Amino acid sequence: MRRKFIAGNWKMFNGPKATSEFINKFSAEIKASPEVIKAVADGSEEIALFVPAISLTAAADGVKELPVIIGAQNCHWEKNGAFTGEISVPMITEVGATHVLIGHSERRHIFREINEELNKKVQAAVEGGLVAVLCVGELLEEREAGRAFDVIREQFIEGLKGIDAKTAAEKIIIAYEPVWAIGTGKTAGNDDAEEICGYIRKLTAERFDGETADKIIILYGGSVKPENTKGIISQPDIDGVLVGGASLKPESFIQIVKNAL
Ligand code: PEP
Repeated sequence: MRRKFIAGNWKMFNGPKATSEFINKFSAEIKASPEVIKAVADGSEEIALFVPAISLTAAADGVKELPVIIGAQNCHWEKNGAFTGEISVPMITEVGATHVLIGHSERRHIFREINEELNKKVQAAVEGGLVAVLCVGELLEEREAGRAFDVIREQFIEGLKGIDAKTAAEKIIIAYEPVWAIGTGKTAGNDDAEEICGYIRKLTAERFDGETADKIIILYGGSVKPENTKGIISQPDIDGVLVGGASLKPESFIQIVKNAL
């Protein structure tokens, strides 16, 4: 039985002060939800927040008494160097974060990050002890041209070059986020989301083996809200959700966490 993984991606929202305020409120919501505390304690659910780099310390310090994972939204593949504006894996681990998003569609399409670079980031992240959440997803025009499966395959295969089966099962999470569903209010139908997440599990079996495919955590992301969480999470190949807008308010994020139980 795979654990549920419920993650918020704050994008470029919430500096350190707003982060501490969010965590105070979210802490009260968790403490008032015994079913969530139980699910996290027995390992059936994990809750994660991917916060801006400048808020990582506030977030990691704020959740010390809480069952919440903190992650970064990006990393560089080198440990140090002349890379102005970047942060490295050792810097992320130093502040107490344990996870990192890699290849979010905003990184791929606004910042033009390519599969080759994303693969270097994935390798650096897992070598440095982080769990890497590799995001994959097709553009609307790619879907309309019937290319969604090819795009996902390429992003998956290229992104995971050099990764072995044990690492894939334990240190990699895949997030399927169709680009046309991110921040648009348009959610992929449950069947469409399941079709691609099932395909990703099949790809995992082909690229690694059946055992890894059974273990790997696959998320759906794209306009997830409290109201559509149950339908998405009940799909057999969807183990969790990556939530943008609806993770910015403690009251809606806790509702998603509860609806996923
Ligand atoms: C995201 O940022 O990964 C995301 C899915 O955003 P939203 O939930 O706002 O569509």
